[in-house]
Order: sequence, then structure tokens, then C-alpha cells
Amino acid sequence: MMPSKFKRIILKISGEILGSREEGEPIHAKSLENICSEIKAVSDMGVEVGLVVGGGNIFRGLQGSDKGIDRTTGDSMGMLATVINGLALMDRLEKMGSVVRVQSAIPMDKLAEPYIQRRAIRHLERGRIVIFVSGTGNPYFSTDTTAALRASEISAEIILKATKVDGIYDKDPHKFDDAVRFESLSYMDCLEKRLSVMDSTAFSLCMDNGMPILVFDLQQKHSIRMAVAGEKIGTIVK
Ligand code: UDP
Repeated sequence: MMPSKFKRIILKISGEILGSREEGEPIHAKSLENICSEIKAVSDMGVEVGLVVGGGNIFRGLQGSDKGIDRTTGDSMGMLATVINGLALMDRLEKMGSVVRVQSAIPMDKLAEPYIQRRAIRHLERGRIVIFVSGTGNPYFSTDTTAALRASEISAEIILKATKVDGIYDKDPHKFDDAVRFESLSYMDCLEKRLSVMDSTAFSLCMDNGMPILVFDLQQKHSIRMAVAGEKIGTIVK
């Protein structure tokens, strides 16, 4: 088993990771299986894993505006979408043998525990995977901000931000062949170079609290394991 560089992490996955564009499914069995086996492997390495899941595969608040839905209502719908994803992850992880607790920022006691920082830490200390759902519980925020907030609250050492690109580039690698990937950046570098790592609220929260962010490609095989083992992968902002 690989030794881990980190004791406690927040893993942020966007909702889209759970779906399949080809199949047109918001939650796809194979995608769920892949991500959960990686999460389980990391948890089995002895790393305390807090998971923040997005809802973009189902609904994003801003999408609602196009449909004439108020932003705040749309955001509530988006937050509920994260609950659906969190429950799917819980179910799959438990079937793989992991012990999981779901904590919701919006109380819904039939489905999940309420978010209680001290209790979340207790779960983590006991080796349980904690899935944080309902975002921050407030409209106008994102699940990246949730990751930044929860990471600071539970004293995680790092936020692992799983994406579809293998790090941060000086320009869009899909558009420019000569785009260069950074291995490491400071928060100031990102601001000066106008690199969008996370939305500005999430980013400033990380910067103000000195919370490192590792951006890496989830599609790369065993990427989460490699990230946790401290292997060279993605781009680190610190
Ligand atoms: N959301 C919110 N407050 C939060 C977190 C999320 O209102 O603290 C809503 C918001 O509408 C957002 C949606 O939930 O668009 C889904 O979250 P996000 O877009 O971050 O998901 P991802 O893109 O990571 O799948």
C-alpha cells in the first residue's frame, strides 16, 4: 500500500463526474463505480476523507434563470441536487465496504445528519468517509466554496479538486497547442495571471486561510491515490 502524504483531505468532485454524457445520464453506474473505488482506496490508505460533491449534473442555480426561476430558488434546487449525488456516493461506497456518513448543511434528518463540525471530525478520526451535501446551505455560493469552507473547518491539509484537465495552464489547453501547464503556483500568481482555479469566493477563502489546492485530472488512472501519495500530478496552488 502506498504511504500517504496527507492525514486529512477534502476531495471536491463536481456533479458531472458522476454522469455519462454519452448515455445522457446524470448518474451513471460505471462513473459512480470508478470514483467510489478511488475514494475507497484512499480511505483504505488511512487518509481521513471529507468529500464535497457538486450538483451540476442535475441542476445549477444559474440554469434556473434561463427558465424564469429566481436565483435563490434555483440555488436551493442546486443544493438539493448535491444531496441526490451524495446519497448515490454513500450507497456505492457502503456496498464496497466503506463506512460513510452524510452531513447536510440544510437539515433533513430523514436523509442525512445535520452538518456539525465537531461530529464530522469525530467521524473522520474514526476512519469514516464524510460526505458534505447541500453546499454551504446558502444561495449565491458554490460547492467549491463549500470545499474551501469545510476544509478550513475540519483542518484538512489540502483540497483535492478533481477536474477534467490535468492542472492549471497559462491558457486554455483545448484551444492552444502551446499552452503550458504549471506545476506549482502561489495564490498571488493566480490572481496576477488571472488564472481561474475556483470561483473568486472559494479562491479567496483558500488564500486567506492558507489552504492549498491541488487541481488534477480525475480521468487519469489512480489520480486520487497519486495525489494523496504526494506524487507529481496536476498543479498545486499554495
Ligand atoms: N449551491 C448553492 N450554495 C452552495 C453550493 C451550491 O446555492 O453553497 C447551488 C448552486 O446553484 C450551484 C448548485 O448548487 O450551481 C450546484 O453546485 P455547483 O455548481 O458548485 O456544482 P458542480 O459544478 O461542482 O457540480
